[in-house]
Amino acid sequence: MFEDDGYALDTLAVRAGQTRSDEGEHSEALYLTSSYVFPSAAEAAARFSGENPGNVYSRYTNPTVRMFEQRMAALEGGEAAVATSSGMAAILSLCMALLKSGDKVICSRSVFGTTTALFTRYMQKFGVRVSFVDLTDRQQWQDALDGDTKLLFLETPSNPLCEVVDIRAMADLAHSAGALLVVDNCFCTPALQRPLALGADIVVHSATKYLDGQGRCVGGVAVGKKDIMDELVIFLRTAGPSMSPFNAWVFLKGLETLKLRMEAHCRNALALAFWLDEQDAVEKVNYAGLPKHPGHLLAAEQQHMFGGVLSFAVRGGREAAWKVIDACKIFSVTANLGDAKSTIVHPATTTHGRLSDEDKARAGITENLIRVSAGLEDFGDLQSDLARGLALL
Ligand SMILES: *Cc1c(COP(=O)(O)O)cnc(C)c1O
Repeated sequence: MFEDDGYALDTLAVRAGQTRSDEGEHSEALYLTSSYVFPSAAEAAARFSGENPGNVYSRYTNPTVRMFEQRMAALEGGEAAVATSSGMAAILSLCMALLKSGDKVICSRSVFGTTTALFTRYMQKFGVRVSFVDLTDRQQWQDALDGDTKLLFLETPSNPLCEVVDIRAMADLAHSAGALLVVDNCFCTPALQRPLALGADIVVHSATKYLDGQGRCVGGVAVGKKDIMDELVIFLRTAGPSMSPFNAWVFLKGLETLKLRMEAHCRNALALAFWLDEQDAVEKVNYAGLPKHPGHLLAAEQQHMFGGVLSFAVRGGREAAWKVIDACKIFSVTANLGDAKSTIVHPATTTHGRLSDEDKARAGITENLIRVSAGLEDFGDLQSDLARGLALL
């Protein structure tokens, strides 16, 4: 068992959480097993009753999944982590474990679309009240707070406009009302931002994105205090959205290169942002790495770098945006992000396509907006790929 001796993030990303079997394998072992054999009937009874620790069934525990959980807890600086079958399963699990009818959730308007749908379609159906507020409008959060508020939920930087909010101030606000602050840290990963150290109570991730980093597996994780995570574990054991051991093994391998990859993603995104900002065919670039971005100073303070995702508005409307997208030969046209492969998407007709025109306008999702996730390809090649389309406008 690897002991965390206060090591730096780069060391933890490679080493934390690893246990070795008697075989002495160097790389983390993949325990592809649904169940476990007990040495005796008495031991089986003791494991089932919880009297003895140890594995019973992989819906409950699995050594490979546990290694991933412990590595994520170390990277985010939390007491414990719980791995789930997807990012949405992590968010669902924390809702099911922590909320009851009559409770209230306050959620940023600028969160992943399916997160919004989970709160509105399902949590409200079970009597949980949900208010949506503008991420950076502190007064709206304040006004929505009441004695029943249990969770404040946000992403920073936001998608696709890269708005940034002060995590420490939001944590103070949540705690002033006895609520918990949940931060979806999918866009930054612990390599760029550690919300728990800034006062957040729970971090959730879609491991599908940067934690995997190569677009192979779907998974999620929640990190926080042990007593809160224990509640999630009980829900997971009962309801079953646990992480597959195979996916946990892929994520463990992904985490080993997390810091290197994130820095390379950020360098490409920053260079693209500066270059796009100078193009005549581009009206506006949304990226907190640009000094004129309203969240620049805050992002510089609370993040290690500015992230791999940016968006930009081209001169013209939907047709112009589609032209730029269709001219790409390298960028993959897909809504996914956080992949070694750069991706490009038109939010107004894909990720945010189901919003009403009014909600789109409020969220800043204009018809001329394009979002890119900078991959690990050569910057000059990515630049030429976008330049081809921009030259058509
Ligand atoms: C993709 C994503 C999710 C959902 O994760 P899945 O693994 O697809 O279930 C949640 N939050 C953010 C910010 C995401 O990008």
